[in-house]
Amino acid sequence: MFLGHYAVGLAAKRFSPGASLGTLLFAALWGDLLWSALLLAGVERVRIVPGFTGVSPFVFEYYPWSHSLAAALFWAGCFVLVCRAFRGSARAAFVLGALVLSHWFLDAAVHRPDLPIGFAGQARAGLGVWDSSPATLVLEGALFVIGAWFYFGSTRPMDSIGRYAAMTFAGLLVIIYAGQFAGVSPPDVDVAAKTGLAQAFLILFGFWVDRRRHPKV
Ligand SMILES: [Zn+2]
Repeated sequence: MFLGHYAVGLAAKRFSPGASLGTLLFAALWGDLLWSALLLAGVERVRIVPGFTGVSPFVFEYYPWSHSLAAALFWAGCFVLVCRAFRGSARAAFVLGALVLSHWFLDAAVHRPDLPIGFAGQARAGLGVWDSSPATLVLEGALFVIGAWFYFGSTRPMDSIGRYAAMTFAGLLVIIYAGQFAGVSPPDVDVAAKTGLAQAFLILFGFWVDRRRHPKV
């Protein structure tokens, strides 16, 4: 899933107005950022088979540290503790933890039953929406519209940068997603992992956009 994770990060601004959009996106995308780093490190494994599902070419072989439910709970707890250690409010910590955990449940909607429950990885979950391109488009599109509606409804621009950069950011996400959806597969795992880590630039974009917008509440 791509747009859906960004959608929950955008929507979370409504519930944690003091947190930067960049921080919220970092929490929502943590599972995939960690996965990309662990692929490069050779700890987790994936194969690329174009056409494996209607949308995603990835055959996930081993990824319990980034994508098991047990790991999601562990990382969510870490985000809560770090947020509190940096004097974040209990509400902000809860929202960050929920975002980290949301990653597993959103992925469970679209993946085939390959998402591990525990670290050992025998029990797996996945509803397989990725097998249907139209269903994936409806699901991720609806989530993104709701997420953007929450973000734009709970913040207002300080200046023209805040207005147009935010719109550019949302448009950029849609363009990237359209490219993925059109079936552009990474040529190898190395490129896939580096592309995943390149989402750090989108998170930085989120930090910058958010500095130019005020929470409405
Ligand atoms: Zn994921």
